Amino acid sequence: MPVNTNPPASDAPQRQFVFMNEGRLQEAPTVRHLLRCLEPVKTVDFCESILVRFLGDGALYALPVIDASAKPVALVDRRHYIEFFSKPYTRELFGRRSILELLDYEEYQNSAPIIVEDSCGVDDVAQIIIDAGMQHMVTGFLVSNRGRYLGVANGHDLLKIITERKQAELYYLAHYDSLTGIPNRMLLGDRLNQAPRDAERRGSLVALLFIDVDRFKHINDSLGHSAGDAVLRKVVERLNASARRADTVARLAGDEFVVLMADLTDPADVDLIAQRVVHSMREPIDLLGHSLVATVSVGSAIYPGDDTRISALLGKADAAMYEAKARGRNGYRKYAPGTAKYNPASVIMENDLRQAIERDELELYFQPQVELASQEIRGIEALVRWRHPERGLVPPMQFVPIAEESGLIVPLGEWVLRQAFRQVKSWQEQGMPTPRIAVNISALQFRQRSFPEFLKARLAEYEIEPRLVELELTESVLMQNVDDVLQTVEDIKALGVSLAIDDFGTGFSSLSYLRRFPIDRLKIDKAFVRDIERTPVNESISRAIVALASSLSLDIIAEGIETQSEKSMLEQMGCTEGQGYLFAKPLSADDIVAWFTSHRKNNA
Ligand code: C2E
Ligand code: MG
Ligand code: MG
Repeated sequence: MPVNTNPPASDAPQRQFVFMNEGRLQEAPTVRHLLRCLEPVKTVDFCESILVRFLGDGALYALPVIDASAKPVALVDRRHYIEFFSKPYTRELFGRRSILELLDYEEYQNSAPIIVEDSCGVDDVAQIIIDAGMQHMVTGFLVSNRGRYLGVANGHDLLKIITERKQAELYYLAHYDSLTGIPNRMLLGDRLNQAPRDAERRGSLVALLFIDVDRFKHINDSLGHSAGDAVLRKVVERLNASARRADTVARLAGDEFVVLMADLTDPADVDLIAQRVVHSMREPIDLLGHSLVATVSVGSAIYPGDDTRISALLGKADAAMYEAKARGRNGYRKYAPGTAKYNPASVIMENDLRQAIERDELELYFQPQVELASQEIRGIEALVRWRHPERGLVPPMQFVPIAEESGLIVPLGEWVLRQAFRQVKSWQEQGMPTPRIAVNISALQFRQRSFPEFLKARLAEYEIEPRLVELELTESVLMQNVDDVLQTVEDIKALGVSLAIDDFGTGFSSLSYLRRFPIDRLKIDKAFVRDIERTPVNESISRAIVALASSLSLDIIAEGIETQSEKSMLEQMGCTEGQGYLFAKPLSADDIVAWFTSHRKNNA
């Protein structure tokens, strides 16, 4: 009866095994059963005592082994053959040989029996082995927790598999975006470097689409990060569906994506795919009952036509994307020489904007709001402009999104509110009858805890009657952190200031907030006013908004009225007030005074 008395390798844990000739067993007992019924072997027990127990009990199939803290770590069984093991992480290295023989090999002397779940897979085994310490990596005896001796896990194979997996995992982590599963900046970089070489060889072109989600910060801030994540995933899904199979759709950062189109022959394909991307975003995204439309702005640049340096090419696609943003977002622009000069990356813009506030480069323009029936002036909307030292008068669509994305909207919005109040006060001091003043408030600004306090202080400072002030909010402001927002809304209402929902109908389709919040007015977005007399869908939407306002006893105004027929149509629907080029474009403080005077004269 052979007894293994090989001393364990010096740095291996103390472990002794006893093996005997075959003793058939009817049914393999479970480890738990064994632990309950049998006195377990301790890892420090002498093998001789174990042998004695096996000899004394022919029915004894195996003995549980426990460590110093009574944790089961192994089974010692009486069989002496290694079985074939079919799972991929083991390899029958030694054929049907005696375990004793096996143990003669030095590398197996460190062998640590491992108890695993019956259904255990390679990852679990790997984890167990890793947890047990790297010295156990050599080989482990696998024993299932249902008492089955599974075989010998070959540590080398395991190590190899684990390493390969880890490498694959690390590669994945390093090259793919964890949120969306698409290539990240790193992998894109690799492919970008490779693309021109391939293109040269094949005589083809390379195109880059630079894609940025419009108002993404706004979505994130107003609906929360998980909603933001869901939007990004959806965007990626649509990008993938729009791109060709061979294109690389990568996430550059945050809400910026790139489609790398290698092996391109016809530059027209770039426009085609870019348009497809823009169109693919039309479908609303359903977010736990809210549906929202996330549009994108897309810019493109082509190698070698637009640039032969691939990194500069990316910058040019980015600049073209900014051009698309500047033209009102939700669109596509190709790079054209000079684009970068006039539309520098947002960082430059952001720095400029930061200084603009300090250098007093901002200006307020005013656009009248009139009663449609009487043409009487009912209000004025304050609209910010930026008088850039080089670029001239910059419209808000070009910098408000950047201000929103960088947080600069807070100081900017505070400036606007002060300036609007200062202007009203000055008009009043000049004895001009002033109508209500409407001020746009961005989500981020509105959600500053101190906003109601700030408003109150400014009302007092400029001695403005609160009933003259109307804040224009967008629908999305009211959609998140409803309780906090409700509190702010109530604080503002308590001051006597009124609230309007700007761009009504373009944001979220959930209307339930209208009942919850004490809103005073809905403002029909100019998109629905455009060609209202020739576009039935615009007519129905405008009609529905007017009806909604009327049934909720809310005031109503339509913006963007450019023609007499748009005005008549809205008036006939029951819309009482309007704003638009038909009456006046946004005017400087001086011009609006002149307009007031002549309008009042003409209307008298
Ligand atoms: P909004 O609040 O919906 O402002 C109405 C926009 O429609 C203004 O553009 C106005 O010039 C334009 N508009 C007015 N009548 C017509 C018309 O008949 N036809 C057409 N096509 N457009 C018309 P603007 O001044 O470029 O402002 C664009 C947006 O920028 C504003 O949309 C608002 O969302 C934002 N904005 C402007 N000023 C501020 C501000 O002080 N603070 C914040 N947070 N946002 C502002
Ligand atoms: Mg507005
Ligand atoms: Mg509007």
